[in-house]
Parts: sequence; C-alpha cells; structure tokens
Amino acid sequence: MDKHLALVAPHRKEHENCTFCPKLCRHSCPVSTVEGRETTTPWGKMTALHHADTGMLDLSPELAATFYACSGCLRCTEFCDHGNRPYDALAAGRTEALSAGVAPREAASVVEEHTRRAAKAAEHGVSLFGPTAGARVAETAFVPGCSACVTRPDDAKSARAVVEALLGQEVRVVTAGCCGLPLHDAGDREGFLDAARRFLELLGRSRRVVFQDPGCMMALAKQAPALGLAHELELVHLTELAAAHLERFAPLGDAPAEVRYHDPCRLGRGLGVYDAPRALLAKILGRSPEGFYHQRNLAECSGAGAQLPRVFPETAARIADERLRDHAMRGGGALVTACPSSAHTLSKRDPNVQVLEISSLLERSLGL
Ligand code: SF4
Ligand code: SF4
Repeated sequence: MDKHLALVAPHRKEHENCTFCPKLCRHSCPVSTVEGRETTTPWGKMTALHHADTGMLDLSPELAATFYACSGCLRCTEFCDHGNRPYDALAAGRTEALSAGVAPREAASVVEEHTRRAAKAAEHGVSLFGPTAGARVAETAFVPGCSACVTRPDDAKSARAVVEALLGQEVRVVTAGCCGLPLHDAGDREGFLDAARRFLELLGRSRRVVFQDPGCMMALAKQAPALGLAHELELVHLTELAAAHLERFAPLGDAPAEVRYHDPCRLGRGLGVYDAPRALLAKILGRSPEGFYHQRNLAECSGAGAQLPRVFPETAARIADERLRDHAMRGGGALVTACPSSAHTLSKRDPNVQVLEISSLLERSLGL
C-alpha cells in the first residue's frame, strides 16, 4: 500500500525494524513499564506508526494518542541493535496527527497556549534578572530556560551567579524567547523551527551560550539541526562550564549526609554529559555521589519530558514516583539533578524529599 504520512517516511526503516522486532527493548520504556500495556512499549508505538504510514490503519485519535505516550527519554535506543530512535519517529507521527486534527486535545492546547506561556516565562525572567539583562551585548549568553524561570527561580538565579563568577564577567541573560521544544513535542514542527530560528537569532549576538536546562540545549544542539536548522553557535551546559573550572569549587562543610545524583535523560543520553556533574559533586561533597539502580546511559527518566505530563499526567506522575521509590529504597537523602524540569517534577510529587538542582550547590561551593 502507498504510504500516506510524508513526514514519517524518513523513519520508515525504523518503524519497520520495530514492527518486526521481538521487542528487544520492551523493558526499557518507562511509559509501558508503569502502564503495564503492550500498546505503549516502543514496539507497540512504532507498530502503530507503521500501520498508519502504510495505510493499514487509519490515523485515528486513538492511534495518534500512542505517539504521545513517550517521554522522549531515549532509553530504548540504548537497547536497540539498530540504534533506532523511536522518539524522533514518533515526533514525526505527532506532527502528522496534529495537522490531521487527531492529536490529543492536551497536545493541541500546548500549541494554542504557547505564545501566552512563553510570554509568561519571559515576564518571570524580567522579574528575576531585570528588564535589561537580555539587552546587554556580551560574548557569553546564559539561558536558564522557561521551566527554570517559572518553577525554580532561585535555581535560575544561582545558575546565573555561577556562570558570571566562573567567567569573571557579566553575561547576557536571555529569557525573552523560547527554544520551541514544547511545540516540537506537541507535534508542531513548523512552529518549533520558527521559534528555534528566532531564538537562535537572539542568541547569535553572543558567541557562546551556556544552558541550565538540558532540554533547551538539546533542542538547539540536536533536534533543530536534524530538521535542517543549522547554526555555528557554541552551546555549553552549565555543568560542562563548571567542570572546566573544577579547581574553583570548594568542599561544602554542611553538605547533605547522603546525596544521590539522577542523570537527566537529555543531559545524559541526549547530550552525552555524564562525567561533569559527577566530578563537580565529588569535589563539593568530598566523595562520589550515590547513584540510582540504573545510571548514566541506562538511567531511568523522571517522566517530565516530551509533554507527557500534559497529555498523560497520571503516567508521568507514576514514573516520577518510581524514581522517588528507588531513591528511598537506596537510602534516601538529597536527590540532585542537573535539570530544572526534573527537579520540579520530582519535588512536586513528594515535597518531603529534598530535591536539589545542582546550581544551588555550585553557588554555595563557590562561596557566592
Ligand atoms: S527500538 Fe529497536 S529494540 Fe526496540 S522495538 Fe524497535 S527495533 Fe526493537
Ligand atoms: S524514548 Fe523513552 S519513553 Fe519514548 S519509547 Fe523510547 S523508552 Fe519509551
């Protein structure tokens, strides 16, 4: 049969591989693990995409919903002999579903509300950093990200202080704009590319850009270029910049007794940054941080990504609960992450757990 999903066509090899695969990555997906359903395994979601692409099944709202049952954690790829990336293929399926008017209502509302939400985040940015922070011309720009500005403002301020202390100069704080990742994950590819293009133009006045949120960084470092939006900016994560100045960080006398580091999916599997946060925590704590049962490239996600909390909030919450359960079973203590979205999600699920975004520890360790 003829294919009828043009944007899914470049992913045909992947969805064919998955459809005829004996589900070798079945255990890897946080969504199907908490839901206990075959439909939401990587195999199930990619088979749905295959059937929609080949015309064997209509692209119905029910079928389209499965494309959204993915947190974009990239974990399945680690177990795939083909190196398949279901997240990217499903994102193409989301775009087809949104343009066909069969995407989940919650995903469509992400697109409808994006301008208002981005403006609200920018307002938070102005209240945190002042109205002229983004206007300064400086070699280095700092992007805290919408999520940090809205949900973890103290961490955003800490991160900015750390960047300026390490560089010994003021940086441009860019909060007037959004990388467009929410649009990408809701299925609005053109909206994502427009937003990313405008944001890159804004950033382009600086040579180097330091990110606090690995999601924003991955959107501009990996996802936008993969969709044809190339650029030559130097993009660096806060932990990479800090680890390059490791000698500046001093042990904290009052560090929490037990500290467990959680690898954010987009910082780890997305950007390949595993060692920098661990080196920083080892310096600050005077010992290596504890870990979760699965770590580094096999770490399990917090459920915060790819609009899963908007479209399937109960599933996202149960994924976060699983991480908190693992943390408690291993002895509890402070849970440290290097992602404001993960920190927000995990702390919201259990306010009794001390969840720290790494910026606050870095700031204190520098004696700021
Ligand atoms: S991602 Fe790879 S391992 Fe997982 S179902 Fe597809 S082909 Fe199989
Ligand atoms: S990227 Fe993560 S959530 Fe999405 S299918 Fe793969 S394992 Fe599941």
